[in-house]
Amino acid sequence: MIFEGLETYGHEQVVLCHQKDAKLKAIIAIHNTVLGPSLGGLRMWSYDSDQQALDDALRLSRGMTYKNAVAGLNLGGGKAVILGDPSKDKTEVLFRAFGRFVQSLGGRYITAEDVGIDVSDLDYVYRETEFVTGVHPAHGGSGDPSPFTAYGTLQGLMAALRYKYGHEDVGKLSYAVQGVGHVGMEFVKLLRQQSAKVFVTDISQVAVNRCVDEFGCEAVGLEEIYDVNAEVYSPAALGGTINERTLPRLRCQVICGPANNQLASDAIGDEVDKRRILYVPDYAVNAGGVMNVSLEIDGYDRERAMRRMRTIYLNVGRIFQIADRDGIPTYKAADRMAEERIATIGKIKLPTIGDGTRFLGRMRGR
Ligand code: NAD
Repeated sequence: MIFEGLETYGHEQVVLCHQKDAKLKAIIAIHNTVLGPSLGGLRMWSYDSDQQALDDALRLSRGMTYKNAVAGLNLGGGKAVILGDPSKDKTEVLFRAFGRFVQSLGGRYITAEDVGIDVSDLDYVYRETEFVTGVHPAHGGSGDPSPFTAYGTLQGLMAALRYKYGHEDVGKLSYAVQGVGHVGMEFVKLLRQQSAKVFVTDISQVAVNRCVDEFGCEAVGLEEIYDVNAEVYSPAALGGTINERTLPRLRCQVICGPANNQLASDAIGDEVDKRRILYVPDYAVNAGGVMNVSLEIDGYDRERAMRRMRTIYLNVGRIFQIADRDGIPTYKAADRMAEERIATIGKIKLPTIGDGTRFLGRMRGR
């Protein structure tokens, strides 16, 4: 049963972590280390079953392989899940026990923040292992990734405008931004700096009011966002918002936003393509967060991070080229770009057991 899952997704290694006294039950899934050590966030969730937790770890770690590959990082894909309720099961010893398991892998897996985890949890993990990113800036961490993710999204947007309209003048178009939380709010600010017309919606009225009062956006209802007359639809809240129900309503020509898993299914991705709406693949455009934490490995530098974000423009442009070359929708072209990179780099590399020595610079600063 377990190996079936590994075979389906093509995983290298899955580690079941158990520490009775710490009440730790965790799964670390290492999908692929051809490009480098696997990096991906740690999620804490009250799963209904062990199988559900395993499925989540397998699915998410595979996604990280693709995301890191398209981002041009020298990193493979991995992910970890802790089985537990983040609102009541968090303890110092739980995260330290988890950190010991990460350390035992010698750098094959580098952890980071994901759903249910915050910086203070990772600071406990950091006491036991150097193979952790997204820690407090006092420990060499990069801090809140949201402004970087928003800036990266802007780069992807510019590549999309260049491809679709032959210019990169963001301010000439109108935008429907769904969700103005950490990333959405930063993205809206960037759009408004270029005087773009921006419609916003959010379940938080406070967030919407801020966009209207501080940045001059126009507020629309939660459902109305699918119907507004805007050239670009920008999902920045939940996944799956492009689906059978919403797609016929969308009046946009471009879909570009930072939310994860925007397409409800591959069939919807095909339909988007048929309608000649240019879809900028989510994991390529929202890679700013992972690019940012990846820089902690060599010693974090904000300027370098901004330069790295700008490569999203090139990555997205390359995806469009592959889509044209092979006559496939852009969501498939992104996967193909990842697979081609892994295949070609794999030919010139011996299998890696991780590159833990690169952490030593930061270790010395402890
Ligand atoms: P967040 O929780 O800060 O913001 C999400 C916002 O969406 C909240 O303001 C929430 O009220 C709103 N929202 C929820 N349901 C909604 C609905 N039905 N309609 C409208 N608004 C709704 O999260 P975030 O960090 O800003 O992340 C947003 C998205 O971007 C997520 O999909 C996340 O996975 C993705 N992402 C974020 C980062 C990052 O750097 N934070 C990096 C990569 C991807």
